[in-house]
Amino acid sequence: MTASLPRVAGFAGAEVGRHDTLTTNCTSDTTAPADLSFSPGPVLLLGAPGVGKGTQAQLLVAKHGIPQISTGDILRAIRNDPSKVQTPEGSEAKRLMDQGLLVPDDLVNKLVSKRLTEPDTARGFILDGFPRTLPQAEWLDRHLVSNSNGTLPVVAISIVAAYDQLARRITGRRTCPVCRSIYNIYTNPPKVDGICDCEGAALTQRSDDTESVFTERLKTFEEQTAPVVAHYRALGRFEEADGDQDVDAVNAAIEKALVHLRNGQLG
Ligand code: AMP
Repeated sequence: MTASLPRVAGFAGAEVGRHDTLTTNCTSDTTAPADLSFSPGPVLLLGAPGVGKGTQAQLLVAKHGIPQISTGDILRAIRNDPSKVQTPEGSEAKRLMDQGLLVPDDLVNKLVSKRLTEPDTARGFILDGFPRTLPQAEWLDRHLVSNSNGTLPVVAISIVAAYDQLARRITGRRTCPVCRSIYNIYTNPPKVDGICDCEGAALTQRSDDTESVFTERLKTFEEQTAPVVAHYRALGRFEEADGDQDVDAVNAAIEKALVHLRNGQLG
């Protein structure tokens, strides 16, 4: 099972190159040029923690040349920046993230609003991990309408996987701090236990990828993010992709959904 992914998520100020459930590493970094003939517009990737949103977002980035905007990455960059984590907002965000809880809507909306002013979002963007609450979704809908400048309406694709798969993906995830390659100790282990194949660096585990925090994140998802899925389903600009397949098959399902959603709007 392979997938060629760029190593860099491609936005300023964020922890770059995060690939949930990535099944390959730096040796397969042979990304083809982006296909600029199709404008995906704004795309929301929805789904539970561990479902593979980050990995799939990276594949969309590589194929379509639009940026991935991961609110988790942006928030981790804040948490890892000593000057930012000392502010009241930063320390509150860290406290909540460490417990697997959501940070306040106002803060996340503000971060997304700022990121969407960057010129690389003109042809579209992939929101990964946002919106996570109904108020965030309603804010985003209003924000995109009032700032759209003729761009396409947002479409949402929800990746769905069996919950018992999610825990294994999350708790097994390890990252190289140097090249950002992602391993999984169960499904994609490094050649030497705990060491990156490419860089020889000691692999790290995200502090919220433990079993207890994962359980909380999943509960948060069910309580607060499931209504977001229902919201976009009701709007009609929505499709589901089966996340219980290998990475390439999930990617193919998402591409198909994207073309279907966009053609539906043209036709
Ligand atoms: P992720 O990498 O998407 O799993 O996000 C990691 C953590 O960042 C989450 O468990 C939340 O604490 C926080 N977070 C990320 N995105 C959001 C969001 N849209 N709203 C609130 N909190 C978020």
